[in-house]
Amino acid sequence: MFEDLRDLYQEVIFDHNRNPRNFHVMENYDRMVEGFNPLCGDRITLFLKLDDDLITDASFQGSGCAISTASVSLMTEIVKGKTEAEAEALFKTFHEMTTGKDENINFEAVGKLAVLAGVREYPARVKCATLAWHTLDAALKNEQQSISTE
Ligand code: ZN
Repeated sequence: MFEDLRDLYQEVIFDHNRNPRNFHVMENYDRMVEGFNPLCGDRITLFLKLDDDLITDASFQGSGCAISTASVSLMTEIVKGKTEAEAEALFKTFHEMTTGKDENINFEAVGKLAVLAGVREYPARVKCATLAWHTLDAALKNEQQSISTE
């Protein structure tokens, strides 16, 4: 990765960690799931508002490392206005990007989430980045009230 691109990515992660977007408890939510990453101690509570299969609002609470906070902050921004199917497809693309299964990052598909591509070089941090998405997945499937990455 080019150095200047890496700097830009870190800048975005720091910004979302300092000023997390959609960081509040949601009133009248449709779904609420707690996500926990015991490897790092990241804890989030994700709230969603749904209109049929459309995600109309997303917010979160919790505490974790910079990667997990930036990831869930970016995710809540990006899934608003997406359908459940679109969000699930994004999760799959994001997962492939962060685990390095897909060598070529599809920048068009992941958009701003590309800033987290660097975690693929740090296997211990992958779960920090994907916690938000595993929690979203559980919320959309509406099967569990809490999930753990382990
Ligand atoms: Zn973490």
